[in-house]
Amino acid sequence: MKGHYKVDPWKIIEEGFEPLHQEASESLFSIGNGRFGQRANFEENYSGSTLQGSYIGGIYYPDKTLVGWWKNGYPEYFAKVLNAPNWIGISIEVDGEEIDLAQNKVIEFERILDMRNGVLQRNFIVEINNGNQIQVNSTRFCSLTSDSIGAIRYNIKPLNFSGNFNVSPYIDADVKNEDSNYDEKFWDVTQSEIKPHFGFIKSTTKKSAFVVNTGMMCNILLDGLQLEIEPETVKKEAYIANKFDFYGTEGSEISVLKFATYTTSFNHDQKDLNYETEEVLKSAVSKGFTNLLEEHQKAWQALWQFGDIKIEGDDAAQQAIRFNIFHLHQTYTGKDERLNIGPKGFTGEKYGGSTYWDTEAYCLQFYLSTAGEKVAENLLQYRHNQLDKAIENATKLGFKNGAALYPMVTINGEECHNEWEITFEEIHRNGAIAFAIYNYTNYTGKTAYRDGNGIEILLAISRFWAQRVNWSTAKEKYVLLGVTGPNEYENNVNNNWYTNYLACWTLRYTAEVLNDLKKTNPNRISKLVEEHNLNFDSETTFWKRIIDNMYYPVDEKTGVLLQQEGFLDKELVPISELNTSERPINQHWSWDRILRSAYIKQGDVIQGLYFFEHEFSKEEIKRNFDFYEQFTVHESSLSPCIHSILACSIGSIERAYEHYLATARLDLDDYNKEVHEGLHITSMAGTWKSIVEGFGGMRYKNDCLSFNPTLPKQWSALTFNVLYRGQQIKFNCSSSLITITNMGSEKVNISLLNEMFVLQPSKSQKKEL
Ligand code: BGC
Repeated sequence: MKGHYKVDPWKIIEEGFEPLHQEASESLFSIGNGRFGQRANFEENYSGSTLQGSYIGGIYYPDKTLVGWWKNGYPEYFAKVLNAPNWIGISIEVDGEEIDLAQNKVIEFERILDMRNGVLQRNFIVEINNGNQIQVNSTRFCSLTSDSIGAIRYNIKPLNFSGNFNVSPYIDADVKNEDSNYDEKFWDVTQSEIKPHFGFIKSTTKKSAFVVNTGMMCNILLDGLQLEIEPETVKKEAYIANKFDFYGTEGSEISVLKFATYTTSFNHDQKDLNYETEEVLKSAVSKGFTNLLEEHQKAWQALWQFGDIKIEGDDAAQQAIRFNIFHLHQTYTGKDERLNIGPKGFTGEKYGGSTYWDTEAYCLQFYLSTAGEKVAENLLQYRHNQLDKAIENATKLGFKNGAALYPMVTINGEECHNEWEITFEEIHRNGAIAFAIYNYTNYTGKTAYRDGNGIEILLAISRFWAQRVNWSTAKEKYVLLGVTGPNEYENNVNNNWYTNYLACWTLRYTAEVLNDLKKTNPNRISKLVEEHNLNFDSETTFWKRIIDNMYYPVDEKTGVLLQQEGFLDKELVPISELNTSERPINQHWSWDRILRSAYIKQGDVIQGLYFFEHEFSKEEIKRNFDFYEQFTVHESSLSPCIHSILACSIGSIERAYEHYLATARLDLDDYNKEVHEGLHITSMAGTWKSIVEGFGGMRYKNDCLSFNPTLPKQWSALTFNVLYRGQQIKFNCSSSLITITNMGSEKVNISLLNEMFVLQPSKSQKKEL
């Protein structure tokens, strides 16, 4: 796989058709606009192996839980993001033979994802049985400016013959999810309409009753002129098409223009859907393909104008960071607080749901620094909107008094995950949600969210921790038993260091906020008493007792913080001694063997040291980093980015660079051999962090944004922008000089290599490295 895609700073390029890589390419070349997204499936029919995937944000199906052994507390269903009706289809027959790259002889093939402009292109030449050669150039995008519209220009040229063409742009609503638990279809077709140049299918999701109109308007130009024929209309169950029959002469340019829309009950009143479908398509058609494309490209260019990261001297690293940024923007635009960032975004089915702890622990910072405070606040608000459900979830498990356990996976606030070791045990997710409130407050310097909705979340999560710990008489300490940390290659462990630390940190932070409010805003405290039954003294006193008496497993000899009790009893064979043919271990070893091994799926103690870096010395971080790195297999996409950042902060730049490539090119080079299932969208935000926080060394503390950069030797310069307190801050660093420029209109406090400055608007501060 490595090397299959060409390295180019702004494009992903595949040259030559390789059916074995088709599903991987479908993932890698996916496009989207935050509202919906599309795998890079072919427009024309393709009988080879493919994962069809069109996904619409917020539209889900509750698929009844399938487990071998039911356990009380399991959720009834797993809410899945659905494969939606196919809007891209255009079938082509030439003299009765279909274009199908799995059957035809492919003479030339090129697929390009133009990230600067948000456009997917494909250029190919195929030869059909009688030796006739056909050239196709297709251009497709999901409009960023009209976000219910997708558009395709599909150009066909008969190269060495003239013949009868039958071109049918269509909508196919007979779709299914490959991950359907009971092999059921999730949609019912409730209406369809087709006339020349326009049609739609109305589909309704079973159980969740979302209504989606998938509509199209289409047209064909022959040598630049409108084809003056009335297409035949085709209507079958769950399928509509316009069939254009015409004669194409050798060398003529046939251009199929297809505009499609998803118009949904998520965004419109159901009674208006048909009207809206037609209106939105009419407006796209009247704008025209070229104008719509131009508008879309301008919107992408504006995103890059601010959000680009430039790496000089290393094209593979450059391409990779743009690839990551590109997919993050097409997954989530922050316009709608009901949406979130699924681990696979709009690129595959795996992981269902949409929201994991990934959002708070990995993605929030990216959106906060590149899209602004409002967008980040939407992400925080998403969790507040689901607080009641999180309380209900905890109540189901036996917790009381407003304790909340947020789901491991959710789309509507209800837990979807149904493996006990994750659903009931991977409770650290609660802490990440609390941490995000702290992080946002610290970065923005604004306490309004924290003191408003934020404290309600913090209180409910703290109550959960206070009830989840128990007193161990043997240890004379509080303990947290039966948990799974971020390293899912261990389950049901006692005293996972990360979870214990995060629990106490949340208690400490919540108490701090409450004490602060007591002084500054006693009315808010009264409201919390009234509405949330807060018992200030007894609750905070109990929390303090837990904080002061929590048990933390530590190796007394070396000072290593132990991932969990008993970690040192394992056979501590470093991964360097593992045969590479056994990697990834999750594809070669039994689960039992994985659980007993010392191998770590993703940083666990390391995740804690990353969050709370300021509470540990560099020596402590280095000691733990060196110890755990030898056992970490990084089989979670979320792992290498955190390792890269910490490696930078302990001055281990070569290791940081290796981890950077592993996170940034994880999908492009398919390190974990699973890219065919979709991309790792949430870890892409971690890639961004590994540049900004890792090599850029950006931190924020005490109303000051600080930078302590170190570039890997492969890079001659690094440039990026961040939004900080409403100001655009430009970072530029070469191997010998760092320059920070305040492009905003208000001054900001900056620290460069540990020296503080007040940076006035339009001014730069430079320092030699
Ligand atoms: C990781 C989790 C993560 C999930 C979704 C899993 O493989 O272990 O930490 O939340 O993927 O990205």
